[in-house]
Amino acid sequence: MHETPTTSSSEIEAAPRIGLGTDRHRMVVGRPCLLGGVSIDCQVGPFGHSDADAILHALIDALLGAAGLDDIGTLFPDTDPQWKGANSADLLVEALQLLSAQSLHPVSADITAHCDRPKIGPHRAQIRANLANWLGLPLDRVNIKGKTLEGVTTDVEYIDVIAVVLLQNHRD
Ligand code: MG
Repeated sequence: MHETPTTSSSEIEAAPRIGLGTDRHRMVVGRPCLLGGVSIDCQVGPFGHSDADAILHALIDALLGAAGLDDIGTLFPDTDPQWKGANSADLLVEALQLLSAQSLHPVSADITAHCDRPKIGPHRAQIRANLANWLGLPLDRVNIKGKTLEGVTTDVEYIDVIAVVLLQNHRD
């Protein structure tokens, strides 16, 4: 009879953790366009509470997901005065502190943003540098890619972001 191999709890603890985060925001004329912590000159910007930085929101959800810490809306509800109007970079730092308290640290992050406006390409280096800095990683462990919507149009203009991260457990 086939026996399922068992994984010891110490093996599980030592194994890396993967996290997936996504975020989608409407793009609205006249809104400030802050993406990946970069203020971009653009006719449209993501609509939502606080700065609506969809790249950071997807990244935060990936980090929290990998750590088994629910999600951004549960941990940082905008109904809580502590988080009302908080900027997304502050939430990212807070999420990283929650991970660090569990000896979990990001070792890799890869992000793709789908949108027609703004073009991500010209801002890629700066977004990447910001993310690497916040995550405490070298540039080659962080990637951000922009893709257009390739003519797939909807009634509403939007940005759609997908982020994956890898966490490792460091006890030192
Ligand atoms: Mg969001």
